[in-house]
Amino acid sequence: MSLHDEFIQFGRKCVREGLVDSFFGNISVLKGDMVYITATGTIMDMLSRDDIVEINLHSPSEYDCYASSELLVHREIYTKSNFKSVLHAHSLYTVIFAEMYEKFCFAETEILPFLENVRIVEGRSGSGKLAETVGAAAEFSSLVVVKNHGVFSCGLNLKDAYIKLSALEHVCKKEIMKKMIIDEK
Ligand SMILES: [Zn+2]
Repeated sequence: MSLHDEFIQFGRKCVREGLVDSFFGNISVLKGDMVYITATGTIMDMLSRDDIVEINLHSPSEYDCYASSELLVHREIYTKSNFKSVLHAHSLYTVIFAEMYEKFCFAETEILPFLENVRIVEGRSGSGKLAETVGAAAEFSSLVVVKNHGVFSCGLNLKDAYIKLSALEHVCKKEIMKKMIIDEK
């Protein structure tokens, strides 16, 4: 499958599985020194080949303004870690969970080791400071949640990043539902 087709497939999948509303997310892949990233203002489940912008990892250019407003964060993650793909989504239950609890702690961590080390950070969307903070956290964790915002899921490929994003949202949803049922009793 071509890289562009993968973007289209995982964009649709993220929306279909309820991991993101169609307007609140972005996708990138690193190949060599080039970052392929969704353009600004794209709709995740209606991506076309024209919605993917090619950017040099190391040298900012006039094309950067066409990329997602979260480009700075994607750049920092690739600069600081060995990840090759990033999915960013405003996943509802994950964001709520990060507001409710100081740490991500789940019963399922025994079967999903990457859930043992989910980082929570804070920062203003689109800022250089947030990019630095997420990049630094991605050195130690593949899942970085920005409070009141969304999650950056990092993987060796898009499938890997998707599985982590999906698993995190699943366990957060389960924990929140459980708490609601217990509170109602
Ligand atoms: Zn965002």
